[in-house]
Amino acid sequence: MKQALGWGRWLFVSAFCLWSASTLAAQIVGVRSWSGEDSTRLVLELDKATEFRVSEDSTPGRIIILLPGANTTIEGPRWPAQVGALEAMRLDTSSRTPRLILDLKQEAEAKVFALSPSAQYQHRLVIDLLPRNTNTVIEVVPPAKAKAAVRAEPKLPEVKLPEKPSRGLSGLFKSSGRKIVVSIDPGHGGEDPGAIGSMGTHEKRVTLAISRELANYLNDQDGIKAELTRDGDFFIPLQQRRKIGREEHRADIFVSIHADSAPNRKAHGASVFALSLKGANSATSRFAQQLAEQENKSDLIGGAVAVSDDISGVLAGMLIEGTLKHSLEMGRMILGEMQPLVGKLHSPRVEQAGFAVLKEPGMVSLLVETGFISNPDEEQRLADSDYQRELAVKIGNGILNFCRQYPVPGTYFDQN
Ligand SMILES: [Zn+2]
Repeated sequence: MKQALGWGRWLFVSAFCLWSASTLAAQIVGVRSWSGEDSTRLVLELDKATEFRVSEDSTPGRIIILLPGANTTIEGPRWPAQVGALEAMRLDTSSRTPRLILDLKQEAEAKVFALSPSAQYQHRLVIDLLPRNTNTVIEVVPPAKAKAAVRAEPKLPEVKLPEKPSRGLSGLFKSSGRKIVVSIDPGHGGEDPGAIGSMGTHEKRVTLAISRELANYLNDQDGIKAELTRDGDFFIPLQQRRKIGREEHRADIFVSIHADSAPNRKAHGASVFALSLKGANSATSRFAQQLAEQENKSDLIGGAVAVSDDISGVLAGMLIEGTLKHSLEMGRMILGEMQPLVGKLHSPRVEQAGFAVLKEPGMVSLLVETGFISNPDEEQRLADSDYQRELAVKIGNGILNFCRQYPVPGTYFDQN
């Protein structure tokens, strides 16, 4: 009897230990992969936070990540293969510490970081595979350095508003002049779907489709060159989007395209936003404030390490260059073009709030909300390729009107 009790206790204790080990261990509940232009992102979603460490046994063709707290008693997810730089990945449970083994197709460096739960996601471990020795998608330029770069090469010289410039004699002689560069930023992407409509439309797909149409339309025009910050389904942090616009594209104009949601499913109509003059906590309306907060969460959802912006310096820069004034003027023109197509504008004037993606001096910067994906009628329209094209043409015409009315010296619009 005594013996049986002893065994029973032992069994109970060991069963408890097994149970507690598996409940304390982090269970991998999902794995997702995205491949960008020069980076590959792998995201492990776990039901709790877990330790991780890149192993010293990692070699050029193989990256090993130690996950001491991962649960290996339950079958793992389907591992991605043949994505970007990744050949294949698996969880090796043969040694005491579970090891995530990544076999690579090409040499890459791994940047690994954890993210707390956000929106629809639980704890995440983000593994970015980046080309060695190059500037990469997630590299973040410190604000001080970025500001210095802006001072070195201001893009838009001061043009006084609202005077119309005179063409003078130069207008009689056809001269090419440089092209105005428009950087088009399709909102969200990859791990960050943006708003999701009741029919399942993802904002990130709508924004990419409209942005591609807009780029095609603008590239068909004389004197304009359009570029996209992303031309695929991958995530780019907000600060990096504006850096791509200014430093890679050397853009004069930056337009971020969105189609968001509102708690009220009846809310509909397009709107255009510029950066708020007075800093992060001032907005021209509650709607603008809420929308900026929603948009600024993109980094938490999509996966980026938080960076703080030196907003006072950015605003001073924008004031000196007059880009904020230009942004409001171009926004007004885009609203004017969109109105007949959209029917009703959500806001008849250009609203302003602290959008992180717009905090870049040196470019005329706007965020265009093409409509509400949360409104079933509008969701249907926004998902329609004909409507996407029509919207893009309207936005493009607003940009063209602005370029013609306020030509930047030395550009095609100045000289023709
Ligand atoms: Zn959005």
